Amino acid sequence: MRTQRQVVDYSLQKRAVLRELLAGRVGTYDVCDASPYLKNAARFHGEPTDQRCPICRSENLTHVHYIYGDELKQSAGQARTVAELPVLAMTLREFQVFVVEVCLGCDWNHLVEQYLLGRDGLAEDGPDQGAASGTAASAASVGRRRREAQR
Ligand SMILES: [Zn+2]
Repeated sequence: MRTQRQVVDYSLQKRAVLRELLAGRVGTYDVCDASPYLKNAARFHGEPTDQRCPICRSENLTHVHYIYGDELKQSAGQARTVAELPVLAMTLREFQVFVVEVCLGCDWNHLVEQYLLGRDGLAEDGPDQGAASGTAASAASVGRRRREAQR
């Protein structure tokens, strides 16, 4: 998505959990604990994927997108379909998206990634604006460094 920024990927953490499971240090009950709310969100707002569940290998994973941010007010913390995200991204300045993968077969769930969306990201796209703000930022930091040197 065009305004997507500050992406944090959680695949390393997921692999660590799966390793713990393989090693028998955690049980499937510990990791397959999707709440009824999460499963409902997956059913009604989820995005089907073609990835097999790493635990039961019989169902495909569903991605649920949760949105957070002050501008969302009472909608904060709700799940949204992927189709709704670009609309929100053009309406709001900034909000956080958390993507959770869920298996509706065995209740496996894990955070996939988080990122920011919203109109504030558009300014970073413009080559002119980007260059201008880059120059301003470096000029400011040079000024700061000079002041620190004078002390
Ligand atoms: Zn599963």
